[in-house]
Amino acid sequence: MTNLTRRNFIKIGAAGTATVILAGCDSDERWVKIETYVRSPEEEVAGNPKWFATTCRQCGAGCGVIARVINGRAVKLEGNPEHPVNRGALCARGQAGLQVLYNPDRVQTAARQDGRATRNYEPIPWNTGINQLAEALNSAGSRVAVWVGTTTPGHLVDLFTRFTDAVGAPAPVRYDLNAGFGGYAPLSNASEGVLGQAGLPTYGIGDADFILSFGAEFLGSWISAAGYGREYGEFRSKRIGKARGYLVQLEPRMSNTAASADRWIPVHPGTEVLVAQAILRLIADGSAGSQERRDLAGQFAGDVDLEEIAEQTDISVETLQTLATTFANASRPLAIPGTPVTGRDNATEAVNAINALNVVAGNLGGSGGISLTPAAPINALAAPTYSNYQDAADLIAAMTNGEIDVLLVHGANPAFELPASAGFQAALENVGLVVSFASIVDETALYADLLLPDRVYLEGWGYDVATPGFQGLPIVSGQQPVVTPLYDNVAAADVLLTAAKSVSGAASALPWTDEVAFIKDIVTQLPEAAYPAEGDDVKWAYFLQHGGWWPAEAPESEAPEVSLGGPVELGPAMYEGDPAEYPYFLHLYMSPILGDGSGASQPWLQGTPDPMTTIAWQTWVEINPRTAEELDLDDGDIVRVSSPNGTIEAPIYRYPAIRPDTLAIPIGQGHEALSRYAKDRGANPVQLVSGTPGNDGNIAWSTVRVKLEKQGENKPLAVFESTVDQGEDVHIPF
Ligand code: SF4
Repeated sequence: MTNLTRRNFIKIGAAGTATVILAGCDSDERWVKIETYVRSPEEEVAGNPKWFATTCRQCGAGCGVIARVINGRAVKLEGNPEHPVNRGALCARGQAGLQVLYNPDRVQTAARQDGRATRNYEPIPWNTGINQLAEALNSAGSRVAVWVGTTTPGHLVDLFTRFTDAVGAPAPVRYDLNAGFGGYAPLSNASEGVLGQAGLPTYGIGDADFILSFGAEFLGSWISAAGYGREYGEFRSKRIGKARGYLVQLEPRMSNTAASADRWIPVHPGTEVLVAQAILRLIADGSAGSQERRDLAGQFAGDVDLEEIAEQTDISVETLQTLATTFANASRPLAIPGTPVTGRDNATEAVNAINALNVVAGNLGGSGGISLTPAAPINALAAPTYSNYQDAADLIAAMTNGEIDVLLVHGANPAFELPASAGFQAALENVGLVVSFASIVDETALYADLLLPDRVYLEGWGYDVATPGFQGLPIVSGQQPVVTPLYDNVAAADVLLTAAKSVSGAASALPWTDEVAFIKDIVTQLPEAAYPAEGDDVKWAYFLQHGGWWPAEAPESEAPEVSLGGPVELGPAMYEGDPAEYPYFLHLYMSPILGDGSGASQPWLQGTPDPMTTIAWQTWVEINPRTAEELDLDDGDIVRVSSPNGTIEAPIYRYPAIRPDTLAIPIGQGHEALSRYAKDRGANPVQLVSGTPGNDGNIAWSTVRVKLEKQGENKPLAVFESTVDQGEDVHIPF
């Protein structure tokens, strides 16, 4: 086995100094050891900053980052202005990445847990940990499972996939809250109908002039916040030949995106597809827009009763008519299905119902419409695929049946991200060895036998095929260390490459000496990029300098094959829970600050006020002030929220911009681990949804009813602005 423990770490080159990088590219010079401030590296000039281009991994969007480093310490992160995903933008989570690196609760070495969830960790030498893993993998054969998330770097997913292929195990399950709540699987599946092939689509927000968003929180935490935030800026700008865009947001609770919209329509929960069906009918029967659009709308419009839809959706026929007319007359209208659509029953069909509007708009496969990210020009860099919840549930079933001997988990936290009824923790009891690569002990790592903490992204290498990509470009984001690793941790890719050398059948499939050799091998196969670079070494150096690879121009794309044949006739979503017992609709949303909950480990994010309520550091339950009055509830009153699946307790926040029949709760808090900042803070509302896969293999995030019980206790909210009471002029729209 290769001795990793005494090898030092990879030397990094500053952006803009290609010769330095080239000099550092031979195998010996790539490794340096950790130095403290008092012993700064020789080439460091005190107070002289360096900038490194790398990739943000606070979510899976793959934004480009520039890290400012002074005296060997990363001090500031900004968006990479060159990177086509975010073009210099960086969301709050991206900015807080320094606290991933410098978090005091990081696991600092390999460790063995003496009994699951005992929290008795015994540090072990890395060689011991890797040997134990190799032995377990060798005896497991094909009875190995890998569970990764959207933040697991693409190169590591590729290595895991090569490994599982080699030993005859199923491909890694790539499922986490970002993928599940973001609706990656139904969005991907529905692409087949309008774009001719499956894949996570890109919505051309920047080039659209009218957007109908069915609850897509693209200015919050939906799929690619910085990328879509940048696109939104373009949508609003009045460029030559394009009017300033007009945005209508339909959702039961005013989100960040709805607050920025020209019009927020608090649609009745679960009836979004009815709105789409009504608009199609009205376009088909009306005189707005081109004849072609009217004909296409006629193809997709079912036999609907507009008065009935108006009653079901709480949107008047006049408003539906206005939406239809504006959509038909717009030059580049766009319809976007968000979590209220992808988190319901028959989610793929529901997305198809919204996509029918995009077919009518005629903006498929190009700017201002929906398109698939073009494939990178080498097979080794295929666009990532994401699992549906059904795949995760199948793996849990295999674990429960004792069919899995070794489970490897990286970049996902199923013990937190899945409802308890999914049975993940219980299934672990029948798995021989659970290995976590988490850099901070999270809820899943609590159940691991072996902790092999990966380096965090600001000290590690990697690449990612950015999905969704933007501007029609295939984009490979590049990741490099911006500081020397803080602790004696070994990159997960190096752990796997080393362990695989002892595993029967795997060694020849993973022949690379180390992680960098693998990444360099792949990257140097790429053709000419937007920047000129000839020869493997220069190409590699420029990949690091620019923060990735992308061509200067988008490749020619062929018109997609649309196979959506006729009307999608779906009724309102089916809700779980008897309305007599559970009178309120539950509207979960992913915190725009904490994201999938991993941000809860970072105090900057904990202390950042939620953009709509200004609340920080806790979980709250949003309720319409009129409903609160009926129930004699005040801000801070602790309530128990129960669904047929579970119960949580949290304080009330009276929020005027929510329907009276709906309660909204942000996801992100409620951890029992994940650092001192996250632990025992707030509640995890994921426990209110069902862990049984819906008829589309997804989790029904948006279709649960709940009830409220006042607990007789009041806890002041950590709120930064005035409450509803303090502003007499506050307009309550219901
Ligand atoms: S959207 Fe935000 S968190 Fe996600 S990669 Fe981009 S900057 Fe990072």
